[in-house]
This record gives sequence, structure tokens and C-alpha cells, in this order.
Amino acid sequence: MVLFLTSLAIKLNLCFTSIPLSLTTIDLDGHLSFADNEFAAKDFGNQYSYSPLAVLHPKSVSDISTIIKHIWQMGPNSELKIAARGRGHSLHGQSQANRGIVISMESLGRQEMQFHIGNTSYVDVSGGALWINILHESLKYGLTPKSWTDYLHLSVGGTLSNAGISGQAFRHGPQINNVHQLEVVTGKGQVVNCSESQNTDLFHGVLGGLGQFGIITRARISLQPAPHMVKWIRVLYSDFSTFSKDQEYLISAENTFDYIEGLVIKNKKNLMSDWRSNFTPQDSVRSSQFISDGKLLFCLELAKNFNTEEIDLTNKEIQRLLSQLSYISFTLFTTEVSYVEFLDRVHSSELKLQSKGLWEVPHPWLTLFIPKSKINNFAEEAFGNLLKDTNNGPILVYPVNKSKWNNKTSLVLPDEDLIYLVAFLSHAVPSSNGSDSLDHILKRNKQILDFCKTAHLGVKQYLPRYNKQEDWMHHFGPKWEVFAKRKSIYDPLALLAPGQRIFRNVL
Ligand code: FAD
Repeated sequence: MVLFLTSLAIKLNLCFTSIPLSLTTIDLDGHLSFADNEFAAKDFGNQYSYSPLAVLHPKSVSDISTIIKHIWQMGPNSELKIAARGRGHSLHGQSQANRGIVISMESLGRQEMQFHIGNTSYVDVSGGALWINILHESLKYGLTPKSWTDYLHLSVGGTLSNAGISGQAFRHGPQINNVHQLEVVTGKGQVVNCSESQNTDLFHGVLGGLGQFGIITRARISLQPAPHMVKWIRVLYSDFSTFSKDQEYLISAENTFDYIEGLVIKNKKNLMSDWRSNFTPQDSVRSSQFISDGKLLFCLELAKNFNTEEIDLTNKEIQRLLSQLSYISFTLFTTEVSYVEFLDRVHSSELKLQSKGLWEVPHPWLTLFIPKSKINNFAEEAFGNLLKDTNNGPILVYPVNKSKWNNKTSLVLPDEDLIYLVAFLSHAVPSSNGSDSLDHILKRNKQILDFCKTAHLGVKQYLPRYNKQEDWMHHFGPKWEVFAKRKSIYDPLALLAPGQRIFRNVL
């Protein structure tokens, strides 16, 4: 046995110079893998790649605690860091650990979901569970989570570490505001339950905390009755201020839509004919004559949930709300889809892009929160001048009312009640030298950020990457002190989520 371990250690040392022998003998329910770990050095952003020494495939929460405790006991001189990896859909290597340990939360995600049905319904899920699976399981009980992301093949731990924002957030707040309780393994390997009434500081810290204070192993997600169907609507505007005024009206109107977002469209050919494959135009003649080429347009995207027996009432409500809006009259397009089809809409695009080899390309995304008072200023420069077209990825624009959001979490937002989320969801074409090349898009992103800075727009980035700690300090502003203090309490050796590059520049 000793001989076997020694020869294994020699073999591993030859391949991977610094795997501590103790890691190869650690007792786990799951297992550590030291080879074939390329997947853990990849993410959706496709711009950064750092190979881990090992990947943990945990079978239990105790596996995660054991590994963290083990590394914690190596003390401050150990270079080993630990990154939880949900779906690896981050953009800048945030779920990677250079020569460290990646915890593949997917193995834990297979644990059973436990539903509680009553006045306040909720489901207890693993931190590695995917939102799409939570949706399918909840629907078996006629229930659904309240707040979503636009794409559901993301993990609970991954979105709760950021915020989880979509067109429902104006009403319910982001996903981090729809969680009752968390189970977290801290940077010392302790397993802690936390909520608004228990270990509150950790609870608030972890929500939107970029994985810095602990690994979310379980979450209690708030549920509500699920609708069967969704009326999905798109209308167009040629003027940004009219478009945003209508968006702002809708997020505070009575009995309003259940989902409110918006898109910027520039130089997009065949816009209306693209829509025709999924939506029905109200005025087919005039909409078929509409030429969008070269114009800057804004698409308001809305959805209203309903059950089949309520269709007449729903249609009346929609008519009432639409009659208050000032869109280009013949650009109304509607369709009816199932609730699942609506929520999982981006997955259909994913499958199409995958079949063309366009999913695994670099994604230099830029997402900003912009105060309402500055949004017209931003739109004029960013959409009117800096943006040449929108053919390499959608650009989302929609307002949310911050008063519905819990400001005690780690998420950082601008200092106004009404803010806009603006997301440039670009993909780069690897072989290109033109406007769809990575270099070009990164340059445009920088121009946008430079403009925000020089015009003092008070913008905050969502899902950012910064190279220096002082940039993070600036990002967190007055919240930095609390954030850094929490790090010193819950992860004093800065073992967790090194890919965020906040506390130690190890990547
Ligand atoms: P990962 O990339 O695996 O991890 C992200 C970070 O969280 C890393 O730092 C990681 O270490 C940490 N982490 C992962 N799991 C845990 C855990 N259990 N405990 C503690 N830390 C953990 N976001 C929105 O808000 N709204 C959207 O509409 C939206 N749409 C998206 C659409 C697409 C196609 C993609 C690719 C991303 C989208 N995002 C959106 C961004 C997404 O929410 C984040 O990138 C999220 O982190 C991805 O989840 P993940 O499971 O892939 O996380």
C-alpha cells in the first residue's frame, strides 16, 4: 500500500509539480480528479483559461467542508485556492482556480429538491441545481420561483453570487431577494445556516457576494402559483425617450405586465420578417412594408402570464395597458406560448447557435446599471454614436425600481431609486478583423466605460472584471469596508473564488 501511494505520488508529482500528497489520500464521499479537467479551465466568456490542479466532484456537503478545512489547515503559505463552479457561465474566469481546486457543484446539484407547500411556499435546492430543473420540478406542484434570469441553464449558487436579474425584477427584485435561507460552507470549512434572522451578516454578505464568503450548498427559494401560458408582445419605437418613458410607466402601472424588458436595434436587416416566424403582426400589411435598415430602433418586450380560463380578462388588461403607450402603431407583434417555453426562450437560441458553432466563441459582454437621471445622456452617446450595429449580439435596456430590492446584500447599485440595466451581449467572431472581432468589441466596451467615467454618470458594472483591488474598492464604494471585513471573518486566508481577483491577484 505504502509503495503504491509513493509511486502514485511520484507519478502525480511528475505530471503536476505541486499536488500535495495529502490531497491524493483524502477520504471523501465523492472524488477528486487530477486529470481530464479541461472543462474547469473554460467559461462562457471564452477569454480566460486557467487550469486547476484538481477538480472535486462532491457527493455531499461534508466533502466540500473537508476539502476547504484541509486547505485551510495548510495555512497562509499555501498557494492553493478554491473556486466553486456552477455552470461555468461566467465571463472572465470567475469560476476558475489557477493551479487550485475547482469544486464542480453539478455533482451536488443532483440532490433531491424538497418542497414546502403552504401560505409561504418554497423549495430547498442544492447550490449546484440548475434553474431550469427547479422550474420543471416546481411545476409538478403548480408552483414556480418568482424571479428569473433570461437564461435558465445556470446554477443557483452562480446566480445568487451575482444577483439574478430579468424582466420580473421590477416587481419581485432580483433572485437574491427571493431566497429565505442558505446553507454555506465558509472559507474555514464551517457549515453554517443563515437567513434574515440567523447569521444575518453572512446571509447578506453571500447574496451578491461573488463567492467571496462561502460556498452555497443549499438555498431555500420562494415560490408562487405558476401560470400555464404567457402572452408575449413586442412593439417598436424610433425615439429612446418615448420608449423609456413607456417602460417607466409600465413598471409602476396597476395590474401591469409580468415581464418588462427592452432591446436596442441598429442596422438590423429583415427585422420584421425574423419576428414573423414566431410572432403574429397585428397589421400584417403595414408591418410587412416596414424597413428598419439603418435606423436606430427600440423594442419593448412584454409578457403577461395567464391561465387558459382567464384569457378574455387577460386580453382586456393587455389592451388597456397597450392603449397607454406611444409605440409605432403598426409594429405590434404578439404570440402565445407556454410558461416554460417563454422562460426557457434563450435555450432555443443556444441550440441554434451551437449547431452553427457560434456558442463557444468569445463573449466580451458588458453589463451596466445606469441611474435614471443619466439614461438619456448614456443612450445618446452609446447607442447613437458609439454603436455601429447590433448584429453581433442583443443589447438589453430596461428599468427596475430599486425600492423593491433589498439593499443589505453585497450587490452594488447606483445611488438612485430608478435604475436601468443595459447589457451589451456581444459575441466575437474569432477569425475576424472587422467590427465583430474581439479586439473591436473590447475597444468599444472601453469607449463606453470611458464615456461613463468622464461624463460622471454614476454607473456600476454588473459581472465585472477588475485587475486591481483599488478598482474593486471604487466599485464597492461605501460598501467596501463591510465587504472586506466580511472577507476577514468568513474567508481570512482568501481561499475562495480567486477568479474574481478581489483579494489576491493569484490568476
Ligand atoms: P459560475 O460561472 O459557475 O460561477 C460564477 C461565480 O460564482 C464564480 O465566482 C463561482 O466561483 C461562484 N459560484 C458558483 N457556484 C457557487 C456556489 N454554489 N457558492 C458560491 N459561489 C459560487 N445574469 C443575470 O443576472 N441575468 C440574466 O438574464 C443572465 N443571463 C445570462 C445568459 C447567459 C447565456 C449567460 C452565459 C449568463 C447570463 N447571466 C445572467 C449571468 C449569470 O447569471 C452569471 O454568469 C452566473 O454566475 C452564471 O452561473 P453559473 O452557474 O454558470 O456560475
